[in-house]
Amino acid sequence: MSTPPAPTPPSDFLRELVTRDRAAGKHGGRVVTRFPPEPNGYLHIGHAKAICLNFGIAQEFGGVCNLRMDDTNPTTEDPEYVHAIEEDVRWLGFQWAGRTYYASEYFERIYECAEQLVRKGKAYVCDLSAEEVSRARGTLVTPGTESPFRGRSPAENLDLLRRMRKGEFPEGSRTLRARIDMAHPNMNLRDPVLYRIRFAPHYRTGSEWCIYPMYDYAHPLSDAFEGITHSLCTLEFEHHRPLYDWFLDNLDIGHPQQIEFARLNLAYTLMSKRRLLELVNEGHVTGWDDPRMPTLSAMRRRGYTPRAIRNFCAEVGVAKFNSLHEIALLEHVLRDDLNRVALRFLAVLRPLKVVITNYAADQVEEMTAINNPEDPAAGSRQMPFARELWIERDDFAEVPPKGFHRLSPGTEVRLRAAYIVRCTGVVKDAQGNLVEVHCTYDPESRSGLPGANRKVKATIHWVSARHALDAEVRLYDQLFTHPEPASDAAGGDFRRHLNPRSLEVLRGCKLEPSLASVAPGTPLQFERLGYFCVDSRDSRKEALVFNRTVTLRDTWAKVAAKGG
Ligand code: ATP
Ligand code: MG
Repeated sequence: MSTPPAPTPPSDFLRELVTRDRAAGKHGGRVVTRFPPEPNGYLHIGHAKAICLNFGIAQEFGGVCNLRMDDTNPTTEDPEYVHAIEEDVRWLGFQWAGRTYYASEYFERIYECAEQLVRKGKAYVCDLSAEEVSRARGTLVTPGTESPFRGRSPAENLDLLRRMRKGEFPEGSRTLRARIDMAHPNMNLRDPVLYRIRFAPHYRTGSEWCIYPMYDYAHPLSDAFEGITHSLCTLEFEHHRPLYDWFLDNLDIGHPQQIEFARLNLAYTLMSKRRLLELVNEGHVTGWDDPRMPTLSAMRRRGYTPRAIRNFCAEVGVAKFNSLHEIALLEHVLRDDLNRVALRFLAVLRPLKVVITNYAADQVEEMTAINNPEDPAAGSRQMPFARELWIERDDFAEVPPKGFHRLSPGTEVRLRAAYIVRCTGVVKDAQGNLVEVHCTYDPESRSGLPGANRKVKATIHWVSARHALDAEVRLYDQLFTHPEPASDAAGGDFRRHLNPRSLEVLRGCKLEPSLASVAPGTPLQFERLGYFCVDSRDSRKEALVFNRTVTLRDTWAKVAAKGG
């Protein structure tokens, strides 16, 4: 897979720092970054920002970026997630250096480093329970209390650590802790735990280990083993950086530099794998790739292009402070991309029958329609026109409200890429419901004929009834009604803010016949209606299913203006 052309990167503090490091000859001028997801869920749009930064910076500076599964926690990780992560990174258009790496491959080396720290008197085995450790930590304003086991000799610690590894002690009975400073103003440096006992099998190392390293300890070591030069992470790790540095200062394994940047947050969106997993497990969505989810697999299924996501990440930029981005920005960038690449088609979502009474019942004409006005190379296609058509129910009004210029009794409209028609009457059933609309057409008004330029106030879309394909079309709205569904301001429980109208399913939609063989992932525009795509999971040749990717215009601006 080829890597995408790098857009001219806007300079930011990360790129400036890398430029300075290279000018100063730091790390021999090399740039090695990594993207280190924990395989405990699917990647979301927030991860896309980290991916674009890590892979983008490596690319721009002639370096490499590793993909590393940060899989040190045996209880939450799963190979299904590993595969999904790899697929999503590739789909975004990036390629990692060499094979995929796993922090769990380094368990032996990480353990050897622990023995080194023990021998240097920098780590000790502590018999306090987790609860006791946490109680003895102190607070932001009061120092912690030293563990009674802090004074154990290196020899005794080494013996205990080896026996911990062998499985001689029960879970929770002992930990290995760094010996730093229980009065340190930064609580992360108050003798943090490096290893805990866990008799849990790991998806890769099986039951080889019953002690597992903590993230704060395993991460800097993994970075160092891989020769990472710049370890980019999100702001919440800023207060962990002194600990990151402490481990590397006390071990002779190289010293990558940790640099923090702001997380991506999107309004009306949950951005945490743990909570997304709850949405899946509790059945609020149909799965990780439910098109309403903010995961990359869901966005792909919904019809987002990888370029739109990369452009969005570039647009958002990199900063040192957290902020909440509007959905409108994401959708604006998406429309921008789709407008350039999407093929246009005619589709009727809520059909109303039109009969052209002066058009012969057995006649069919092929009308030529432009595939994409933004791209002449996309060419044109034929659409069959016949006596009976479907039009959008909304495009007809028996009693037109003021300003309504589409079809109503006595008025004319142009049918896209076909003729001008005039409404001559309606047919109703016994209950008085509208069944069909009768029209006559002007044979001189077809494109290319003298009457084609005649002015009419509106152009509407249509599909030949005899040739139409039936389809189900799914319209999506935000999954949440609160801009920060998991915040304290939202009352703490995101379930209370689930949008009951986040999915509307329309059945019996009518599509022009050339949509029969469109592949999932092809960006489409249904003219006047929005951008759509074939649903990759549920669509069948005999039962087509389409997703609406995004509407043609921003509806958020209106919502905001109404104060809703
Ligand atoms: P989550 O809370 O969703 O589980 P995480 O940070 O625990 O996210 P990881 O798998 O550890 O998920 O993330 C891998 C990388 O992606 C990390 O370097 C992390 O900093 C980055 N990342 C995660 N979420 C975001 C976000 N919203 N914006 C930018 N980067 C992110
Ligand atoms: Mg994490």
